[in-house]
Amino acid sequence: MKFDHIIIRYGEISTKKRNRKAFVDKLRAHIKWTLRDFAEIKISSSRDRMFIILNGADHVRIIALLKEVFGIQSLSPALKTGLDIEEVKNAALFYLSQLSGSIETFKISTRRADKTYPYNTDEMNHALGGHLLRNRDGLKVDVRNPDLNLRVEIRQDAIYLTGEIIPGAGGLPFGSSGKAMLMLSGGIDSPVAGFLSMKRGLDIECIHFYSPPFTSERSKQKVIDLSKKLAQVYGSMKLHIVPFTDVQMLIQKQIPENYTMTATRRAMLKIADKIREKQEGLAIITGESLGQVASQTLNSMFAINEVSNTPILRPLIMMDKTEIIELAKEHDTLEISNLPYEDCCTVFTPASPKTKPKREKVNFYESFVDFESLIEEAVAKTEIMSLTPEQEIGLLKDSEDLF
Ligand code: ATP
Ligand code: MG
Repeated sequence: MKFDHIIIRYGEISTKKRNRKAFVDKLRAHIKWTLRDFAEIKISSSRDRMFIILNGADHVRIIALLKEVFGIQSLSPALKTGLDIEEVKNAALFYLSQLSGSIETFKISTRRADKTYPYNTDEMNHALGGHLLRNRDGLKVDVRNPDLNLRVEIRQDAIYLTGEIIPGAGGLPFGSSGKAMLMLSGGIDSPVAGFLSMKRGLDIECIHFYSPPFTSERSKQKVIDLSKKLAQVYGSMKLHIVPFTDVQMLIQKQIPENYTMTATRRAMLKIADKIREKQEGLAIITGESLGQVASQTLNSMFAINEVSNTPILRPLIMMDKTEIIELAKEHDTLEISNLPYEDCCTVFTPASPKTKPKREKVNFYESFVDFESLIEEAVAKTEIMSLTPEQEIGLLKDSEDLF
């Protein structure tokens, strides 16, 4: 005997009434992609669940992969048996023998979707429970808090046995929330913001600003490596690399020092928004956390945000640095982020940036300079890389987009 099904419960997406079909289709497509190496499996979905029919595939490996898929609330390996009670008894014993943890207490919970089945739920519970007790020493029934609650579901064509409930990754399926652009620096925060965004079903592309020769190839490589980590979730990731030196030089020259940071962030946001528009995204994501540094005070955000009315999503806004670091460890990006290469913003950070910049002032300072043409130029010269977890496909110009 072998497990022949995995039951997938959707959780949150099953509460979305109108869009349910679209959600389920997206989840199904992503599961199909995740399990692409298993030619033998079949996927079937219904309103509230999905079944992976294993056809002999190793359920342990498949469960390990499915645990990473967003949109799955929980998983259970399942046995499908015929309707004959002896067959069900043997299957129950087999299920017990397959569990990894030690099981001392159990209960059987039968549900009859098919009310015409010759045994009612109590009779089934007794028949199966008795069989397990007779065949396993030391096992006891505990209806309140059992180590194993073996669920037996009687349907018209078959009976399903499930017990173990394995938590899934939660969240929403890939792409179900639309597309957004992640402003990705080489720091700790923005990659974490990327993972959290993907968890909520966003399809993301990354934007990175770099300022050669003030920032090195190694700092660019660091961002490529972080993007490859993000690519692990969906198998690929686009990275837009914006040459930012000219804009930064002009800011250094024209804007009073304590306002350079504010003006820099505004220019970055303007550029990111133009790229977003080209890529047909609907939001910009940052790794900002309230009050963490001068650019992330509420006053700063108020002054910076003025240049765009695109939604800015800040998944980390209310998190402490320690919480963010924990997430960075979990997603295996902390080590890369901690590499000491300089970022364009750190190179040009003034000694004492304004923590309470004023919109009127920054507008006034910016009014003497033609930033727009430099901003357009930066957008035009932006290069797009299409990355996969293992390798980079190549450097593409905007027009020869791979996808
Ligand atoms: P991070 O750890 O993500 O770098 P941080 O705490 O260092 O964040 P800042 O450097 O102020 O904070 O950056 C705030 C946010 O601005 C970043 O999370 C990121 O979204 C964006 N950002 C900063 N620098 C860059 C860059 N060079 N390219 C793209 N986005 C950037
Ligand atoms: Mg940073």
